[in-house]
Amino acid sequence: MPDETITTEDTLKPVHPESWDEPKRILVVLAHPDDPEFFCGATIAHWTATGHDVRYCLLTCGDKGTQDRSLDSEALCALRQKEQRAAAAVLGVSQLRFLGYPDGYLVPDLNLRRDITRVIRQERPDVVVTCDPTTLFVGNDRLNHPDHRAAGQATLDAVYPAVRDHLNFIELWRDEKLEPHLVNEIWVAGTQAPNLILDVTPFWPIKIRSLYEHASQIGDREKFTERMLKRHTADTTLENPRYEEKFRRILLG
Ligand SMILES: [Zn+2]
Repeated sequence: MPDETITTEDTLKPVHPESWDEPKRILVVLAHPDDPEFFCGATIAHWTATGHDVRYCLLTCGDKGTQDRSLDSEALCALRQKEQRAAAAVLGVSQLRFLGYPDGYLVPDLNLRRDITRVIRQERPDVVVTCDPTTLFVGNDRLNHPDHRAAGQATLDAVYPAVRDHLNFIELWRDEKLEPHLVNEIWVAGTQAPNLILDVTPFWPIKIRSLYEHASQIGDREKFTERMLKRHTADTTLENPRYEEKFRRILLG
């Protein structure tokens, strides 16, 4: 079992995720292939290694993410789905779904919210992982992708209240026989306001290995590895490098 340091702020009590009494079903809902691995690949590896069932729902298939002028969106979509399946297999993820929205144009409208509500009612996860829709800037040199903001917003809006209350998108309950569902926890990655910081050092190598599967996205593998190894914490030392993944964890009553 990895030695895991967890700190909390605000009203949450200190908690070790592996103190969950029973195996959890965890559904990761994000915009693009490679988002789960970049946002929280080490945590996902930890979860699957400790007996939890992790599934992905990717809203787009990443069909704009290239500078290669020889690739059209259809070919890129197929390539990125293949890469995502391989990366998920590295992390021990049990199932993947792609909702097929066009990359780059995702908006948190009612159609997207309904589709995510349907998936959550079908999968009935204990925990939903998504990303923070309020993150506009990443550090001093990057903008957050609009699809990430849309994915986070639509997923949070689906979990509460649409998944829970049968009169929301009544056709899901009335016509598709999908019962309402209570999600117990939401883990929001890519947030500027984390309340849970996990030491994921033992799982950093497998996170990097899973990202190798996204060959169309990472460029030169050696340079990519160097960049990933530099994402250590400020208190890291040469002998003891440390890596973290951060979340806003919301416990729903
Ligand atoms: Zn992305």
